[in-house]
This record gives sequence, structure tokens and C-alpha cells, in this order.
Amino acid sequence: MVDVFQLARENIRQLQPYSSARDEFSGQAKIFLDANENAYGAPLESAENFHRYPDPHQRRLKEALSRLYGLPPEQIFLGNGSDEAIDLLFRVFCRPQTDRVLLTPPTYGMYEVCAQINDVPVEKVPLKPDFSLNLPALQQALRPPVKLMFLCSPNNPTGNAFPRSAVESLLKSFHGILVVDEAYIDFAEEKTVFPLLGKYAHLVILRTFSKAWGSAKIRLGMAFGSPQVISLLNKIKMPYNVSGLTQEAALKLLENKVQRDEQIARILEQRQRLSRELRGFSFVKHVYPSDTNFILLRVTDPKALYRFLMEKGIIVRDRSSVLHCADCLRITVGTEGENDQLLRILSEWEQRT
Ligand SMILES: *Cc1c(COP(=O)(O)O)cnc(C)c1O
Repeated sequence: MVDVFQLARENIRQLQPYSSARDEFSGQAKIFLDANENAYGAPLESAENFHRYPDPHQRRLKEALSRLYGLPPEQIFLGNGSDEAIDLLFRVFCRPQTDRVLLTPPTYGMYEVCAQINDVPVEKVPLKPDFSLNLPALQQALRPPVKLMFLCSPNNPTGNAFPRSAVESLLKSFHGILVVDEAYIDFAEEKTVFPLLGKYAHLVILRTFSKAWGSAKIRLGMAFGSPQVISLLNKIKMPYNVSGLTQEAALKLLENKVQRDEQIARILEQRQRLSRELRGFSFVKHVYPSDTNFILLRVTDPKALYRFLMEKGIIVRDRSSVLHCADCLRITVGTEGENDQLLRILSEWEQRT
């Protein structure tokens, strides 16, 4: 086992975290006069407990998540979107201008932005043109000063998940922190690296409520990892980083797992339908397979098609300037009705070209 506590920056290891009013008292009381809240409440009709600070440790929510995922609360970090967890991982483990992060472009843009914000140099080992991992090059690169690696699986924007065996081979040779961002894993559940968590203390898995849970608005992200890594993240987070509204919404969402799974099944149906129908257009050169709720496709003249769709009120993502993604657009799977409209407008485009 990698000693992950020793990987943290010295100042973070030594840090005495902020202790909030609700940290120091968490029992039952009748009258709360400890946190300078407005005892008269919020000036709003339906503002249930707006005047109280939320639980900084999100205990009830973590217990519910713990039951769902079969992981103790000590191994779950909750943040303001997974973007918060990404930023905190840099701040725990990377000394600015010294330790480095390894990325595998093309991938999610936030990793590099967070690296730049934290003044952490980026090393890149691009995916191969077929979007698979370049394992020999990664094994070469995964050594000091590289301290942190982000791997997005299934990957945004390419749509493919990487084999668990490949992730495990990285964990065996790399003794820094390997973060696997599983934002899209609910669309390809069998490809999760979750089973590796028990075996490797330096593996961190990111999940989010923004995609399959249909709740991007509540801003809730999760990090799963060893108790050592999770306690370091908890130590440096802002005390009330997950709002009370968000905690309450998430507790309600978790009661509706069955409905969520039904929705995922519908999205997968629509993904299959879209992939099939997109392949039928003459201007579509390639439709990549997808483990996600989006489809990457290569077309002739992506810019013109992008503009045409925009004029018709449909917005997709132009990825044509991204490495290995020349001429590519990324299209999120919509509802059946939205996909009908998309396909109708694409037929119009076909007639024009
Ligand atoms: C959408 C997405 C997320 C979600 O981020 P949140 O901050 O939780 O909304 C994370 N990672 C990737 C790769 C994504 O595409």
C-alpha cells in the first residue's frame, strides 16, 4: 500500500483545520445561540430552516450514499460538484511549480484549468489516435515529479471507457495519486474501477449528480477513496461546501434510484437509436462507440454544420480543434422528441449539401 498521507504537501499534513460552531457542538439542543444566525429566520414564506448552517459533514447524506455504494462514510467526500474535488486534490498533493500532474488528452478541460490555477506544471501523454491509452509511455512518465494523474473513464469527449486491467497496471507502477473520473460511468456501469478501491489506497474515483442523476443544478460531486485521502480532502474543504438545499435534494433523489435506472435505460435506447441513424447520413464520416450519454461523430465541414444547427436552435459541442478529434462534433443524447427534431434538421442539412 502506498502511504498516501506522506504524499500530501507538508503544510496540509500539519494543518489545523477550521473548527466551525457546528463542529464544536453536534448534539441535541433546544436553543441555538452559537453561530450568529438570524433567529427570526429568512424573510421568505417557504424558507424551511434557511437560517441554520447545514451539516458541514453531510452525515445523513453520506449514510444514505454509504448504503447505496457499499462504502463506509469515511471513504466518501462530497463537494460543490466534482469540480471542487478536482481542485482540492491539486491543493492537497501538488506543491505549486514543483510537483506535476499527468493528463491524457483529449480529455475533460477542467483538469488543466485547475492545474494552471494551482500553478502545477502539466505533463501530457496523449491517447493513441484510436483513443486507447499509450501504456508504455504512461509507465515511463509516471514517476517523480508527477504526483497526480487524472484519467477520465468513460472519457469526455471521446466517449470510451478504459479497461480496468489498464487502470490496475497504472496503479501498480505509479506511487502517486491516480484519479479516475467516472462522471459517465452510470451509462456503462460494468466498466467501473470501483472494485479496485479496496486494493489501492492511492486510487480516487470521482462521481457526480450532474449526469445520470439528472441534477446538475444542485452541484453535488463525490470522491471515493481510502480513508486517508478522504480525510485530507475533508481537512481542507470550506466548512459548509455543500449547501443544505443540496443535501436535502440529494436525500430525496436517492429514494428514487429505480426511476433513475429507468431513465438511464431510456437514454441508452436513445443513444443506440441516434448512433444508428447518424451513421445513415452521407455527411457523417464516423460515429464513435459511446459508453456515455453523448456521441462523438466525425463529419464533413463541422463548422458549417455547427452553425446550421445553431441557427435552427440546436446547440452541440464543436470539438473539431481538439487533438485526434478533427472534424468532430459532440452531441448529447436528448429526449426522444429532441432527438426527433435533431434528426429532422440533419436531414434538411443533408439535402442542402
Ligand atoms: C460533466 C463532467 C463532470 C461533472 O462535473 P460537476 O462539477 O460534478 O458538475 C465531471 N467530469 C467530467 C469528465 C464531466 O464531463
